[in-house]
Amino acid sequence: MKRVLLKLSGEALAGDKKTGFDEATVIKVAKQVKSLIDEGIQVGIVIGGGNFWRGRTSENIDRTKADQIGMLATVMNCIYVSEIFRATGMMTQILTPFECGAFSKLFTKDRAMKYFEKNMVVFFAGGIGHPYFSTDTATVLRAVEIEADYILLAKAVDGVYDSDPKSNPNAVKYNEISIQEVIDKKLAVVDMTASIMCMENKIPMLVFALGEENSIVNTVKGNFNGTKVTV
Ligand code: UDP
Repeated sequence: MKRVLLKLSGEALAGDKKTGFDEATVIKVAKQVKSLIDEGIQVGIVIGGGNFWRGRTSENIDRTKADQIGMLATVMNCIYVSEIFRATGMMTQILTPFECGAFSKLFTKDRAMKYFEKNMVVFFAGGIGHPYFSTDTATVLRAVEIEADYILLAKAVDGVYDSDPKSNPNAVKYNEISIQEVIDKKLAVVDMTASIMCMENKIPMLVFALGEENSIVNTVKGNFNGTKVTV
């Protein structure tokens, strides 16, 4: 793999606390990403916002505004993780689809590619910049734009199951499944908008558990224990 896009959910950053940041969790991620960068692999990152806010679950306020808060939550997450990455010895840059003053630079493909060439980790914050979308969609969109070889989907569970393993002890895990089947069976690996984009643009995904020791590095090195979503 030459270039990958790693998606972390907001909750993943919070560890057991469920909200805010769990530094130990983020440091573990940082060390793994550093070992990829040291080997010359280019890494882009998208982070969700669920550890702070979700537009669709907020009540009483306009959805567009609720989603704007969600997008800003993803910017906060990227600033935090980017700083932990820097403290771990990496160079980073945050790109957003809207102006955030001095906090980030405006996303363009050319900019992203320039930073990858300089061995920087590039954070794609702010989702796609529009309400009614998610960071799943942003993940697929940016992965397509930067021509990533794979999307690395770090989850709380260790792959794709035929039903929710938290509620069904007999749920069966797939080692490999096509994106068409994910869509047909509504398996919600990523949301439907993102799944369709993934299928149309033929970008494969590797789904694995963030909590498993060294799982990001193992996934990239082919020592993979999760589910491969083929296109
Ligand atoms: N969001 C948005 N547009 C985007 C990306 C995110 O409006 O392109 C908002 C939306 O409110 C979402 C929140 O940011 O709920 C956090 O993003 P994430 O993808 O983590 O949301 P989730 O799928 O967990 O709701």
